[in-house]
Amino acid sequence: MNIILLGPPGAGKGTQAQRLVDKHGMRQLSTGDMLRAAVKAGTPTGLEAKAVMERGELVSDAIVSALIGDELDAMGPDMGAIFDGYPRTEAQAESLDAILDARGRKLDHVIELEVNEDALVERITGRFTCATCGKGYHDTFEKPKAEGTCDKCGGHEFKRRPDDNAETVRTRMAEYRAKTAPILPVYEARGIVGKVDGMADMDEVTAAIEAILAPSS
Ligand code: ADP
Ligand code: ADP
Ligand code: ZN
Repeated sequence: MNIILLGPPGAGKGTQAQRLVDKHGMRQLSTGDMLRAAVKAGTPTGLEAKAVMERGELVSDAIVSALIGDELDAMGPDMGAIFDGYPRTEAQAESLDAILDARGRKLDHVIELEVNEDALVERITGRFTCATCGKGYHDTFEKPKAEGTCDKCGGHEFKRRPDDNAETVRTRMAEYRAKTAPILPVYEARGIVGKVDGMADMDEVTAAIEAILAPSS
């Protein structure tokens, strides 16, 4: 199974992708995570992407599509893929079709997380992750059960993204509206879009996604 999680920054894509990975053993392909790893490693891609990401603008289509192709090649052909934060432009959506086609894969579902933009700034500015295992948290909406200790791996170090500030979030939302939202009609025409209320509790969002992936169970 190959699915896309689509929604603006803070919609809950990463949160829901992690849950699908844990439950179904699928692989999360997050171009944001791949780019942050490239920045950290100081690769040519990372050097090119760093300032663009700090401004909240989009990195070039060629860079992110190459990252996605490489990740798919590194996974087993039978492992399901969750595209998180990709595609983000019409050109990327076209590239994804070609990338999947070349590997004998097909897109099964596009899950759109519908959210109220006003809530996103609070979600983004309160977001942090475990520095060891990457599990996502929020200052108000999902705190570790024991303060300072990761629920999943027991780690004690957490980190926040440099672009998770109120100012950059506005740019990222504008980029989403202008460049990413227009790819939805393409998928709608194929009849593969499932809409989910992203403002609901995390567990309800998960249940709604599961209902789309396995309507019979
Ligand atoms: P995205 O990957 O779409 O940018 P995240 O999954 O990282 O979004 O979620 C952004 C922040 O909001 C995180 O701190 C996460 O814990 C929190 N969050 C995610 N889903 C919900 C939800 N349904 N209700 C409240 N907070 C949420
Ligand atoms: P969020 O889901 O919170 O918007 P991501 O981690 O997906 O954040 O992306 C962080 C940043 O990385 C984006 O603002 C953008 O600069 C860059 N980026 C990630 N994915 C893409 C993509 N598919 N195309 C272009 N830029 C991307
Ligand atoms: Zn952890």
